Amino acid sequence: AREVRLERPMPKPADPEVRITHPERVVFPDDGITKGELADYYRAMAPLLLATMAGRPLSLVRCPDGIGGKCFFQKHGAGNLGKDIGSVRIREKDGGEEDYLCVSDAQGVLECVQMGAIEFHAWASHSRHLEQPDRLVFDLDPDEALSFADVRKAAQDLKRHLADIGLTSFAMLSGGKGVHVIVPLKPQAEWDEVTDFARRFSIALATAEPERFVATMSKAKRKGRIFIDWLRNQRGSTAIMPYSVRARAGAPVAAPVSWAELDEFETAAAFRLADRAQLLERAADRGLAGWGSSSQLLPSV
Ligand code: ATP
Ligand code: MN
Ligand code: MN
Repeated sequence: AREVRLERPMPKPADPEVRITHPERVVFPDDGITKGELADYYRAMAPLLLATMAGRPLSLVRCPDGIGGKCFFQKHGAGNLGKDIGSVRIREKDGGEEDYLCVSDAQGVLECVQMGAIEFHAWASHSRHLEQPDRLVFDLDPDEALSFADVRKAAQDLKRHLADIGLTSFAMLSGGKGVHVIVPLKPQAEWDEVTDFARRFSIALATAEPERFVATMSKAKRKGRIFIDWLRNQRGSTAIMPYSVRARAGAPVAAPVSWAELDEFETAAAFRLADRAQLLERAADRGLAGWGSSSQLLPSV
């Protein structure tokens, strides 16, 4: 049997000596949450965030004027952001090379926040083995007409179908509208193989239940259905990291949940920045709900 090791990191608040300028500046206008409060959240949560994010190519969502202003994705430019924000050199398709952002400690996380970062997205592979992803991410994107109960049911179905082929998976509330179903992998298969598996698995579900699922991006075909966004599993794609705050009203947080408790939630934005103490307590109890290292291999089907 494949074994999935449950990681139980002891969340210690980090003490990074990063100066946060303008801590009084309001970042979430509807909620009155300031840059200082955002930094406090990330200072406390950095060990948990880093448990799945450290050492991976990053993509930040920066909103220097708060979520009411312009926000943008940033994946390059480490040198200008902060001294603890590192980079990893990545070969591009065209043969060139680019330096991607990469942080490995709480200082780096806080320097990102100092520069206006709110969301932390990362690759599904670690810089130690960039070409061999160590997780599959099925990002369930529901059409607006659907209820969260539909999303929960879809996630549970995915979990069951994955289990049928011997894969253990985990759930995360995205902090937005959907649920991400994560399959930790031993980093062995390369991107092409992993992308192809994710694509074929998703198309099989959409073919079996076309009234519930679609596996193509086309918005028109999504009406009343859930898009199984397998494209997260392509080289260069990113997904939101557990415990990242989202740049949306209410300051929701992406949060791993156990399969048993998933059914208790009425929204993918059930946890918020303000729930920091509860998030820390939950993590101390159940770790990352199984994220992290695993010895699972893709089945040869
Ligand atoms: P939701 O549950 O609301 O769908 P989500 O995080 O899954 O939240 P998606 O819109 O499904 O949001 O996007 C999935 C992922 O795709 C994001 O987490 C992000 O990492 C990546 N992504 C989306 N848009 C961009 C972009 N413009 N640049 C880089 N990455 C992006
Ligand atoms: Mn999504
Ligand atoms: Mn998506």
